[in-house]
Amino acid sequence: MNTRHNGIGMTSQRTRARMIERLRKDDGDRIGIRDEAVLAAMFEVPRHLFVDEALASRAYDDVSLPINFNQTISRPYIVARMIEVLCAGKPLGRVLEIGTGCGYQAAVLARVAKEVYTVERIQPLYERARRQLRDLKLRNVSVRHADGTAGLPELAPFDGIIMACAAPALSAALREQLAAGGRMVLPVGMQEQQLYLVEREAGGFRETRMEQVKFVPLLMGKE
Ligand code: SAH
Repeated sequence: MNTRHNGIGMTSQRTRARMIERLRKDDGDRIGIRDEAVLAAMFEVPRHLFVDEALASRAYDDVSLPINFNQTISRPYIVARMIEVLCAGKPLGRVLEIGTGCGYQAAVLARVAKEVYTVERIQPLYERARRQLRDLKLRNVSVRHADGTAGLPELAPFDGIIMACAAPALSAALREQLAAGGRMVLPVGMQEQQLYLVEREAGGFRETRMEQVKFVPLLMGKE
């Protein structure tokens, strides 16, 4: 355990407990998080270790934070909400995340899913996330440096697919990588973005449009 972890240690547990209480609450249009497994996972993952030290004191506020390279870590509510929708009240099997970023969402997913595959196109973010997830001994997460636009067909099918960046339109290639009964949660749109749930059913796919969101764009190629 490094000094940074010790330094914020106990207080971070208390701060996380407060974050969980806030996540549970309905607030205007926003529906509180109900899935206890998701809330437990959010409580267990030390979010402050995934952001720059200078931002650590804000890690448990419900805000998005910069993680360099023009990218951001989503606010805790949206991470919890997307994972709750992905789980639908059941433990997950194999999950694909597109857009590892700092690795925070992958760490939460690792606690509710059997296996997590996550892809990031920006090399320094990929390296940092991989190191952080390894330090936390999350052995069921595999991080790849790749363009995830077309998913990871060689490892499909997935029981869940989650995107942390917004595609201009729903991708047919991605939904084909869902297993039967699989679910995909993703932001879609350019300026205006909506969260979508895509479910693979016996007869095809069911799409449900959910709330408005704001994500960084899905970009092509790797760097
Ligand atoms: N889940 C992340 C949020 C990261 S922000 C977290 O917990 O920190 C979205 C990420 O998607 C950025 O890091 C961005 O580089 C990445 N991204 C954008 N387009 C991508 C693509 N085509 N393939 C893989 N990653 C992509």
